[in-house]
Amino acid sequence: MQPDHDTIFAPATATGGAIAVIRISGDEAFTVCDRIFCGRTPLAETESHTVHYGLIVDGERTVDDVLTTVFRAPHSYTGENSVEISCHGSAYIVSEILRLLLAAGGRMAAPGEFTLRAYFAGKLDLSQAEAVADLIASSSRAAHALASNQMRGGYSAALDTLRDRLLHLASLLELELDFSEEDVEFADRGELQQTMEHIDLEIERLRNSFALGNALKEGIPVTIVGAPNAGKSTLLNRLLDEERAIVSEIAGTTRDVIEETVNIEGIRFRFVDTAGIRSTDDRLERLGIERTLQRIAQARIIIRVLDIEAFAAKTSLRSEHPVPAPDFEIPQSATLLTVANKIDLYPELVLPQGVIGLSAQNGQGLDTLRRALLQAVGSNALEQGDIVVSNGRHFEVLTIAHEALGQALHGLCSGLPADLLSEEIRQVIRHIGEITGRGVILSDEILQNIFSKFCIGK
Ligand code: GDP
Repeated sequence: MQPDHDTIFAPATATGGAIAVIRISGDEAFTVCDRIFCGRTPLAETESHTVHYGLIVDGERTVDDVLTTVFRAPHSYTGENSVEISCHGSAYIVSEILRLLLAAGGRMAAPGEFTLRAYFAGKLDLSQAEAVADLIASSSRAAHALASNQMRGGYSAALDTLRDRLLHLASLLELELDFSEEDVEFADRGELQQTMEHIDLEIERLRNSFALGNALKEGIPVTIVGAPNAGKSTLLNRLLDEERAIVSEIAGTTRDVIEETVNIEGIRFRFVDTAGIRSTDDRLERLGIERTLQRIAQARIIIRVLDIEAFAAKTSLRSEHPVPAPDFEIPQSATLLTVANKIDLYPELVLPQGVIGLSAQNGQGLDTLRRALLQAVGSNALEQGDIVVSNGRHFEVLTIAHEALGQALHGLCSGLPADLLSEEIRQVIRHIGEITGRGVILSDEILQNIFSKFCIGK
């Protein structure tokens, strides 16, 4: 896939704002715009990075008063001549300007086409381009930090380092081929193994960070479980009230599953309130329980709400009493938080270690629960500037690279000749290159897949 030389245009802002921006990019961007823009100077004669007031005209008719911003190649997002028209935010005005741009010789851009051109112009590598889309979609401080780190290229630099080390190994091996008569080993096999294992560890670290990265990006799935009347809904409502939550219904899941999204200290949590679990013959209730178990399996954090009243009456809850075991299985990667709700009813009660005392009704203990939630996320890695992979495609590629490296290591240990071994290593290099797009030619399918997910105008 290579970009054509068309002059492309697209609205860059959503409808409904006071101002709308339309971007135009391509060799002929200034000429195309000058056919519909009437300012003091034709845009073709203006300096880069300047703003010009003027009119958008359709023959004799004025469509709008606008500001145009001029970027000259190569100093623009796409690396091409570019113009941004800021007009009044009317859907009608925008559609008129788009119509006029088409008539003036431009073509409507495909989703992500501006960024695709930026990628081909070498302005961004592939992982940075993907981060642009994530940045636009980011809705919490954590998701923003992930995208922003990736866009600034920290990620690409780390991958380049890995790639360079592998390239060095491959070339040492290839050097041996030139001296094959003399039976020399430029690449000490012990050192080679050590370096490859070290690189594999790095790849593994990146792969493992995906669980956190993905959860931070999409929102941490938290499932609230507990017997009916334990206070699950009250707890959720309390959290929502205090955090001014966004309520969202998830498409594609069961009708009655409502997810509530809450930002706590910059991290997005997706809370799901579930039906209680108990054995029952009721078919509908059984369905509800099945769904609860499903949500438990998907959760990263499970809040188990125990009704302190029922609990206290049964076992006279004191510190030496162990907490009853949950009647569901906790996924290996999930954290279980046990909450004893309605402590307002038994203020004197001593709770067992690790149980969070809570009154969902008056908010007591909520701060402790919030801290426990944040701690369970373990987002320190992100705050410490560690690389956290949040892109599913990168995770897949890293998995393939890890497998390929495993195969190369196996080859090394079983005495594979230098030429075959270097080919194995080059295979790993190619896989790593697929993340940033550096040093490899990517298939149209990969590129299309990535850029078609972008919005129009980006
Ligand atoms: P759910 O079935 O688990 O969702 O439970 P609800 O949230 O509907 O609560 C059941 C009942 O317990 C309601 O009458 C609530 O008002 C009450 N409740 C919930 N939390 C508390 C609490 O912290 N203290 C007291 N005293 N009552 C509570």
